[in-house]
Amino acid sequence: MSTSVAPTPAATALPAGVVTGASYDALVAACKSGGYALPAVNVTGTNTVNAVLEAAAKNRADVVIQLSNGGAQFYAGQGFPDSATAKVLGAVSAARHVHMMAAHYGVCVVLHTDHANKKLIPWVEGMLDHGERFFDETGSPLFSSHMLDLSEEPLEWNVGECARVLERMARLGMNLEIELGVTGGEEDGIGGEFDESADNAKLYTQPDDVLHAYDVLNPIGRFSVAASFGNVHGVYKPGNVKLRPEILKASQDLVSSSRSTGPRPLDLVFHGGSGSDKAQIAEAVSYGVFKMNIDTDTQFAFSAPVGEFVDAHSKAFKYQIDPDDGTPFKSFYDPRKWLRAAEVGMVARLGEAFADLGSTGKSIAK
Ligand SMILES: [Zn+2]
Repeated sequence: MSTSVAPTPAATALPAGVVTGASYDALVAACKSGGYALPAVNVTGTNTVNAVLEAAAKNRADVVIQLSNGGAQFYAGQGFPDSATAKVLGAVSAARHVHMMAAHYGVCVVLHTDHANKKLIPWVEGMLDHGERFFDETGSPLFSSHMLDLSEEPLEWNVGECARVLERMARLGMNLEIELGVTGGEEDGIGGEFDESADNAKLYTQPDDVLHAYDVLNPIGRFSVAASFGNVHGVYKPGNVKLRPEILKASQDLVSSSRSTGPRPLDLVFHGGSGSDKAQIAEAVSYGVFKMNIDTDTQFAFSAPVGEFVDAHSKAFKYQIDPDDGTPFKSFYDPRKWLRAAEVGMVARLGEAFADLGSTGKSIAK
């Protein structure tokens, strides 16, 4: 694996590969104390998984690989007859691929699943069935972390259900990501309507709600919070998104002062990172964001080079042999050619993401 960035010696060094339990804690602590965050990249197949691993290795950075329920289904195959089963098996298959490859790319990887609303709780529980069997075989969970996004439900129910699922996950050493407040935009059919109204309380997580979640969940196990500070899924016209990262600081300060923890006790997650202003990304990271989700921008980075490739070799996508001079086109329509162009595009975009989040060269892998 060629590397273009020299490694930085880290205070904590971990074996390369998927991090869980205490290793997950060490990686999150390294991010927060080091003032940087990891991109959390949605993947849909081996091409996107391998592009993320390649980008992480090239930039000497650790990374979060995550699957949405739709991404997991796609991984299993859109033709699979039962979509609920496909979402579980696709996620498990992707996780096993990452376990197999991550250590050999020489970086630490948090393996995570994205938004699961009330209807998708059985998806998470299905993955936990596999995770418990994996734990019995290996002593480690299959995933580092899952997300439950019950932010459309009443707060008490959201937090109570998160507590119930976290009890099961904590026994495996897993982290639960929860959502308080609603990230605008929509992703795989989950998420609130995009609402530009700056005083919409739902778009800005309330510190009292965060304190309540902390009091219920902290005694049970490790959890992280996707807090809403005006962030939205997707990329919109400039000016439509009014990020207020200081909302994150208010939640950290309330928990820290009222529960006498150290500074920045919460592990915060930034959803809807695509298209965000770089200064506001840096401000959010300074308030304890260790993970920023990126999907829309990496989707475009994967697809744009394919469009260019097809434009440049359009005949090869219509004929196996040039009808004018008989030249064979195999070397252009071979899927590896244009899929590799896609991977290279995604790797380049992720190089920017690592730089924006301050994680370039910061891998703590031994
Ligand atoms: Zn999200």
